[in-house]
Amino acid sequence: MHRYRRSLEAAVRHASAYLDSLHERPIRGPEPYENIRRRFAMPLADDGVEPERIIDELACAADPGIIASSGGRFFAWVIGGTLPSALAADWMVSAWDQNAALYACSPAAAIAEEVAGAWLKEILGLPAAASFAFTGGCQMAHITGLIAARHALLEKAGWDVEEQGAAGSPAIRIFTSVQRHGSFARAARMLGFGARNIITLDTGSDGRLLPEALEAGLRQHNSPAFVLLQAGEINTGIFDDFSALIPIARRHGAWVHVDGAFGLWAAASPRYRHLTAGIDQADSWATDGHKWLQTPYDSGYAFIAHPEPHRASISYRASYLTKAVEGRDEMDWNLEWSRRARGFSTYAALRELGRNGVAELVDRCCQHAVALTEGIGGLEGAEVVWHPVINQGLVRFRDKSGDHDRRTDEVIGKIVASGEAFFGPSTWRGMRVMRISVSSWQTTSDDVRRTIGAVRKILSEE
Ligand SMILES: *Cc1c(COP(=O)(O)O)cnc(C)c1O
Repeated sequence: MHRYRRSLEAAVRHASAYLDSLHERPIRGPEPYENIRRRFAMPLADDGVEPERIIDELACAADPGIIASSGGRFFAWVIGGTLPSALAADWMVSAWDQNAALYACSPAAAIAEEVAGAWLKEILGLPAAASFAFTGGCQMAHITGLIAARHALLEKAGWDVEEQGAAGSPAIRIFTSVQRHGSFARAARMLGFGARNIITLDTGSDGRLLPEALEAGLRQHNSPAFVLLQAGEINTGIFDDFSALIPIARRHGAWVHVDGAFGLWAAASPRYRHLTAGIDQADSWATDGHKWLQTPYDSGYAFIAHPEPHRASISYRASYLTKAVEGRDEMDWNLEWSRRARGFSTYAALRELGRNGVAELVDRCCQHAVALTEGIGGLEGAEVVWHPVINQGLVRFRDKSGDHDRRTDEVIGKIVASGEAFFGPSTWRGMRVMRISVSSWQTTSDDVRRTIGAVRKILSEE
C-alpha cells in the first residue's frame, strides 16, 4: 500500500460526493460562518495527524462554507465551473508536483503549455506569432502586458527601463474608458504607472470608447501611450470598436492592450465572433481560463504580439539555470520563478470541448443569460436594465416608495439567503442593479426556469 493512496482515496470520495451534490445543495449554505471558524480553529497540535483523517475532517469542516459557484445556479461575478478532465488534470499536476519554470525541470509541462498556447491563439483568433504566458489569472496577464509594453514604449523613447529603472523615465499615459476593470487599474498601480496617468476618455451611449475621444486624447498628450480596450465589460459585456480604435492608436505609436477576461472567448463562436472584429491588430491581450474555458482556478493567459519586448522584460539569466535550446523555458515569459504546471488543465479543457464545444458553450451561456434577464426582468416588480450582448445582463427591482436601490439590494439578499440561486449587485450608471452572469458549463435551461421561479416566489411573498 503506497503512502499516498488512503488520503487520495479520501479526497476522491469527498470530492465526488461534493460534485454529486452540486445540483441540489444550497448555493450558499444556511449555517453561520462562525461555525466553520470554530471547526477549523483548533490549537495547533504538538503531534502530527494521520493524512486520511485530516482529509475527512477538512471536508467536514469546510463544507458549510463552500459556495456552490461551479454549479448551475450561480450567477454572481464571472465565475466558471470546472470540466471533468480539467479538474482531473489539475489533480495530476499536484501529484506530479512539477516546477514549471524551466524546460529542463519538466519537459512535459513545458510542451503541454507550448501546445495549449498555440491552440488558444488559434481558437481566440490571435496572431500565430504572438508570444504567451500562462498566468495565475487575468490580472497577472495585465501585468505581463504592461511590462512588455513599458519595455517597448520606453525603448522607442531611448530609455532602457530594465537598466535605468522606471523612475525618471518619460511618463507613459494610459488611455481608456470608464468601462475598465479594477484589476487593470490595480496592475498599473502595482507597477508604478501612477493612477494619475490613467486618462479616462468618453464613451458613447452604447458604452463604447469614442474614436474621436481617443484621437483627441492621444493628440493632446505627446508622450508614450498605452491604450486599454475592453472585450466584454464586467457589467454589460460590451466590446469596444476595435476596427475603429486600433488604427487610431497605431497612428500615434500607442500600444494597445485588450482586457478580454471572459469576452475574448466570443471569438471562439461563429455567432459572436463579429464583436471581436479587428481585435487581432492589438499588441497584447489578457484573458482567463478559469472563467469561460472552465478550468480550475489559477489559470489566465497573456498574449503579446511582439515576443522580443515580452522576453526582454521578463527573462533572466543565471549560471545555475539550465537554459533549453530545444524547448520553451516558461520563465522567459512568465512572472513567476517556481510555478505550478498550470498548462495541463488548459490542455485538457480544450481537448474535452474541442472547437465546437467551446463555441457551443459560449452560445449556450449567452442564451441562458438572455432567458434569465428577460425572465426575471419581466416579473412583477422587476425590470430589465441591460439586455445581454453576450453572457451578462442587468435587472433591478422596483420599490413602491421609489427607493429602487434599496429594494434591489434587499431582493438580492433574499435570493442568496434562499440558497436557490446566487446573484451579486453592482452600481451601474448611478443605480443599483442585479448582475446576471452566466459563465458555467453546468447551467441548464432547467436551472434557468428554477431560478426565475425562485425569484418570482420571493417577489410575490410580500
Ligand atoms: C475577472 C476579470 C478580470 C480579472 O481576472 P482575474 O482572473 O480575476 O485576475 C479582469 N477583467 C475582467 C473584465 C474580468 O471579468
